[in-house]
Amino acid sequence: QERAMVERRQRLLGPAYRLFYEHPVHLVRGEGAWLFDAEGNRYLDCYNNVASLGHAHPHVVEAIARQAGRINTHTRYLHETVLDYAEALLATFPASLGHVMFTCTGSEANDLALRIARAHTGGEGIVVTSLAYHGVTASLAELSPSLGEGVPLGRHVTAVAPPDAYRGGPGMPARFAADIAAAFADLRRHGIRPCALLVDTMFTSDGVFPDPAGFLAQAAEAARSAGALFIADEVQPGFGRTGTMWGFQRHGVEPDIVTMGKPMGNGHPVAGLAIRPELLERFGGSVRYFNTFGGNPVSAAAGLAVLQVLRDERLPENAAAVGAHLLAGLAALAERHPIIGDVRGAGLSIGAEMVTDRATREPATAETARIVNALRERRVLISASGPGANILKIRPPLCLSREQADLFIGTLDEVLRVA
Ligand code: PMP
Repeated sequence: QERAMVERRQRLLGPAYRLFYEHPVHLVRGEGAWLFDAEGNRYLDCYNNVASLGHAHPHVVEAIARQAGRINTHTRYLHETVLDYAEALLATFPASLGHVMFTCTGSEANDLALRIARAHTGGEGIVVTSLAYHGVTASLAELSPSLGEGVPLGRHVTAVAPPDAYRGGPGMPARFAADIAAAFADLRRHGIRPCALLVDTMFTSDGVFPDPAGFLAQAAEAARSAGALFIADEVQPGFGRTGTMWGFQRHGVEPDIVTMGKPMGNGHPVAGLAIRPELLERFGGSVRYFNTFGGNPVSAAAGLAVLQVLRDERLPENAAAVGAHLLAGLAALAERHPIIGDVRGAGLSIGAEMVTDRATREPATAETARIVNALRERRVLISASGPGANILKIRPPLCLSREQADLFIGTLDEVLRVA
């Protein structure tokens, strides 16, 4: 039956899409950190960075249903839900970020942030990290090095190495800031004025590279001295994932623009940006901007409900506590399984890097693929990424319990013993 669905999918949707897993999973229902397939099998979801509150959270489901049953309008009519949501969302940011703008996807949020940054600075030059992914549009694909060599970087884009504490060695924070300064200087030499530093506040697009706390402050300073804005991409780390509401809070830095998406509607498409109001003066004065669905009443109701649940269920705190428990469990596994070269992370955004040899740190690419598939057969869903496809990326819903964390560790232990 799954094979027939895969064939039907290919026939209808064409060849561009990839499915997770060689042996695809047909999920039909979710609850908390559990997912269920069409046969009723239960899986532990460690893959997720969308339904962060847990799947089908009743408070969000009810908020969506209630608003959808009343009205959903084009966003150029007045409606109050978006104002309530904007107020609640802005309350989570430093006072310097005084406006929010809503979109439907993280890509649109990054694209809009860059349009605004270009209007404000009059520059084009953008610095990103060399494993970054910032979105699906043409303008973002050309600044997303993780898409590979098939998608060349734009002339106005320079990529600098991300802060990899495992392979990067000491002196890394200062070097990252110096690389950013050098990249903007180089763009200037080519006649390209600085526009923005666009970086994740925890590097997880291709691998998991948790930067030491405080580290982005130096990077932001380097960008600002060059005349560029500091845009924090919080699409992955935002909304409690790394144990604080926002990733930038671990660094003691205030971004000029914050972009967000993914878990913002717990699965409902909600995204947007928060921005310093003065940066909008030129863009707001010259551009007639609207987004048909961005900030529509149903999305706003979903987003507002997400903020309420994050607060009421203390999910960022849970992510910090259960994340620390999970990291300790992984560190204990590493004592018994030499394939685990490094474990790291913040909150419930955790990476375990698999190597064939701890001395050379050679990526265990084939072994990692086998581990991911073996976990799937034992009903734990997880992904692997990184330049060597050898970093297990562990990203469960933020409601993960200690017992579920222990189940993950126990299952990984079993898989590594037979692998
Ligand atoms: N930025 C980052 C860091 C992301 O991980 C993603 C999505 N994976 C995006 C932006 C784009 O978001 P979307 O897929 O919602 O357009």
